[in-house]
Amino acid sequence: MHPQDNPSQWRRGQGLWANVPAAQWNDWHWQLQNRVLTLEHLEQHLELTPEERAGCEHAKDKLAVAITPHFFNLIDRDDPTCPIRLQVIPRGGELMVSPEERLDPVGEETHMPVPGLVHRYPDRVLFLVTDRCAAYCRYCTRSRLVSNAQNYDFHPEFEAGLKYIAEHPEVRDVLLSGGDPLLLADNKLDYLLGRLRAIPHVEFIRIGSRIPVFLPQRITPALCEILKKHGPIWMSIHTNHPRECTWELKEACDRLSFAGVPLGNQSVLLRGVNDDAETMKSLVHRLLQMRVRPYYLYQCDLITGSAHFRTDPRVGVEIIRALRGHTTGYAVPQFVIDAPGGGGKVPLNPNYVKEYTENEIVLRNFAGELYNYPLPASAEVLK
Ligand SMILES: *Cc1c(COP(=O)(O)O)cnc(C)c1O
Ligand code: SF4
Repeated sequence: MHPQDNPSQWRRGQGLWANVPAAQWNDWHWQLQNRVLTLEHLEQHLELTPEERAGCEHAKDKLAVAITPHFFNLIDRDDPTCPIRLQVIPRGGELMVSPEERLDPVGEETHMPVPGLVHRYPDRVLFLVTDRCAAYCRYCTRSRLVSNAQNYDFHPEFEAGLKYIAEHPEVRDVLLSGGDPLLLADNKLDYLLGRLRAIPHVEFIRIGSRIPVFLPQRITPALCEILKKHGPIWMSIHTNHPRECTWELKEACDRLSFAGVPLGNQSVLLRGVNDDAETMKSLVHRLLQMRVRPYYLYQCDLITGSAHFRTDPRVGVEIIRALRGHTTGYAVPQFVIDAPGGGGKVPLNPNYVKEYTENEIVLRNFAGELYNYPLPASAEVLK
């Protein structure tokens, strides 16, 4: 067990929050109201490096700083390279913009028939329902619109989005994202899910949310009732490092699972956070223990000021190679690059085919050994 699994050690007891009563700590409104939002507030909690201070000074024009006390307490305050810290505290690297970087790295704006609705794939849409998150990830693909630091003036248009979906019978799958949809008030979410369920061709509804990780207290019984009522609602949570798998997250996942919400996980491959096989293996094992199926591992998008986070995609492929066959198949996510400019998600896999001969395929298994599988005599070679 990781020390973070021990609730008595981690639930409250650190720094300026040491004396907060449990009833407040466990209240999601308190967690939101007490987020760390400013440089001054950050410095009350830990000693920033000069690089972090430089990053914080420019955050207000790029992507606001916000960290919930719950997530903040996972930071190792004595370690400037702490993988939790790197995700939420700005660094000077954010100010360095490389030529290949974009404000809209995966070309969402060009696939938006209605503000806040991205229709890129034939049968499904991405519906951005808010520009707010409980905390902000420094590598966020949607930094242009979340937190509203860049004056992007994003106003999700619920009615226009719902109308578009209703008028497009090919849309059978709606992915609610943002921002974080679970920041919407219960009644608003209830209304939105009800409206979507009333559209006969919408078969599949899912929510992408980092709230279970940043603000597990938000996963209240009342919220779970709403998800159950409109179910099945699927959910993708977003963890990057095993230390995020706290007791509180586990309890939140239990509540969701018992309300009939199938859970997946999306991770972003981040330099210094999770770009090694051992860390990822530990993460995916913990996810399975919480009934969460690892879904995608993303190559970090070319968002402006992200060079310090990005790795060589071959690192991701090698991580998958280290998992496949070496551990539970359910634990292995699909590694993808969201193609720059709007090509969508492209899977990257280790190559297990050594070659095709005239009548055999030569396979390399997880241990590197070669095996032959004979091709059917009548096989027509696919062009
Ligand atoms: C990721 C994404 C989806 C969902 O893709 P799946 O592979 O079905 O999870 C849908 N629309 C957009 C624009 C996306 O980026
Ligand atoms: S929770 Fe998601 S949308 Fe919000 S800042 Fe993080 S990556 Fe971006």
